Amino acid sequence: MSNRQDDPFIQRERTHLQYGLSSSALLSNLAIERGEGVWLYDIHGNRYMDLFAGAAIASLGHAHPLFLHSVHEQLDDLIVSSYTSPIRSYYVAALADTLPKSLNQVSFFSTGSEANEAALLMARTYTRKFEVISFWGGYHGKTGGTISLSDRKWGGSGIPPFPGILRVPYPDTYRRVVPIQDDSRYLEWCITFLKQTIETSSSQSIAAIIVESLQGTSGNVIPVSGFLQAIRKLCHDIGAIFILDEVITGFGRTGSMFSFEQETAIPDILVIGKGMGNGLPISAIVTTEQIASTPPLSLPSGMSSSFGGNPLSIAAAHATLTIIKQEKLVENAQIVGKYWLDLLHNELSDFAFVGNIRGRGLMIGIELVKDRVTKEPLEAALIKQLFFKGLEHGLIAGLQSPHIRLNPPLIFTKEDANWATEKIKACFNWLKEQIAVA
Ligand code: PMP
Repeated sequence: MSNRQDDPFIQRERTHLQYGLSSSALLSNLAIERGEGVWLYDIHGNRYMDLFAGAAIASLGHAHPLFLHSVHEQLDDLIVSSYTSPIRSYYVAALADTLPKSLNQVSFFSTGSEANEAALLMARTYTRKFEVISFWGGYHGKTGGTISLSDRKWGGSGIPPFPGILRVPYPDTYRRVVPIQDDSRYLEWCITFLKQTIETSSSQSIAAIIVESLQGTSGNVIPVSGFLQAIRKLCHDIGAIFILDEVITGFGRTGSMFSFEQETAIPDILVIGKGMGNGLPISAIVTTEQIASTPPLSLPSGMSSSFGGNPLSIAAAHATLTIIKQEKLVENAQIVGKYWLDLLHNELSDFAFVGNIRGRGLMIGIELVKDRVTKEPLEAALIKQLFFKGLEHGLIAGLQSPHIRLNPPLIFTKEDANWATEKIKACFNWLKEQIAVA
């Protein structure tokens, strides 16, 4: 696979392109020319099943005809304007319609990081407080504020996080910070830890708690059930804003339109992005009238962004939401996700290096370990080789050693799941042989 580095496209780009590509994209050395449905095609005509969807962005898959048609129509009409556009007025109403009544005030941005920064600003402005709680393993972006909220393992260039941010354990069901196996007792321990952190390490001025309903970047990690409810309650007890970062989990990904629906834990500020526009840059925060009406953010240009709400991205988001509903992709994510998770359990659980297979909807994580008892991660070098083996078999998955992230487009079918599982199994058989001879 390494010969791909010799591709002139790759060489030219790598000479000049400094900014961070995803590790999967960098490692793959793939130059991708086009996509169709769940498939990507490289410049040599090789085909790969896209089990990553650009980190859960291509929710409708690639080149969805109806999506392309809507975006083309908008391209012809208007791309730039912050004046009211017919498409935006339809979209805000349609978006509000998919959310609980209390969440009815929307601000548009372009990236998840930008929307999370806006959520932070809004929470601090509304509460007139400063400190924010986030979680170990969490990822909220790479801008100054959001990298500070994120776990240090996602970067930060050795610079200290912004002041006023406290991080506490996420109640990961697989890797528990303390050996409490009972879920509700473990949740209680995590919430007590959080409260003690506020007590001992803050100035008792918590503006917000920001959390992912599933930790995507950390490997599609699932918290114990009742977690979001507990955070919502705690926020309300201490007068803090409950910010739910659904940038990766929103728009059907986990088998419901938004994953907070599964716990009926309605946030004060919902952050959305990624799959929202099926590839065009669009993100948003959605909040209550009470929070949104706080000056100065409620004043003209109080919450603004040059590209926020531009007609082209809005047309993409509108088409995406319409197609998700028309093609029942939320239900599909739930049904096919459950089918695939069961299949992966059945086919892969016997491999000694499979530590954990988990998922909700079409957001599945497989964690690879050296030892199932100690849960020591499998060597990164081996997982890298496994990724290349996957490419040989025509698979692109997300790689965040020691996790494999599976977030295919929401149009993924049971047949796709069968095909992918067979290939993953072949790759795992290869890995088993490598480990045996090592
Ligand atoms: N929040 C979450 C939960 C994410 O998964 C991501 C992206 N991986 C972000 C925020 C940041 O989004 P963006 O890369 O669009 O800034």
